[in-house]
Amino acid sequence: MENLKKKIRDIIDFPKPGIVFKDISTLLNDAAGFQKAVDLFGNRYINTDFKYIVGIEARGFLIGAALAYKLCKGIVLIRKKGKLPGEKITAEYELEYGKDILEIHKDAIKKGDKVIIVDDLLATGGTVRATIELVERLGGVVVECGFLCELEFLKGREKLKDYNVYSLLKF
Ligand code: AMP
Repeated sequence: MENLKKKIRDIIDFPKPGIVFKDISTLLNDAAGFQKAVDLFGNRYINTDFKYIVGIEARGFLIGAALAYKLCKGIVLIRKKGKLPGEKITAEYELEYGKDILEIHKDAIKKGDKVIIVDDLLATGGTVRATIELVERLGGVVVECGFLCELEFLKGREKLKDYNVYSLLKF
């Protein structure tokens, strides 16, 4: 894991002063590193019973799509406001400054469908909480929330006490 962690670069003061941004683009463009990360992450779910990966825009799509392909599952898209063309439902969530909105197509998940939610990074947990809300309003069952990286000092897990949470790389 330490080798994979080294492939992720820190960008200081992005997008605003005081934030250390974990830039996974340096891992994604390393062919062996990306494959290793997806394989290790995906192996966790090889014997798990679920129907969809739910990927969160935008970097969650990259990790989520690779996992869905590896595990032979479909992928459901969680998008930022105004991007989904079909009938959708909406959840608002808190950012560090202000609010944002996530959306899902109404027919993307049926009652009882089991899903694994995937994003690149767990920080404060607000994004994944809003995603859980969308999945559950459609009747979906969240089997686990899985992240490539977790910023443990931000304690996002504490917002996810009722759920299984996994992260491959902990910072
Ligand atoms: P949060 O809702 O606070 O858990 O933030 C998680 C979302 O914001 C993920 O989709 C991440 O891609 C992004 N994010 C938050 N903080 C960082 C960070 N320090 N480095 C990279 N991405 C971040």
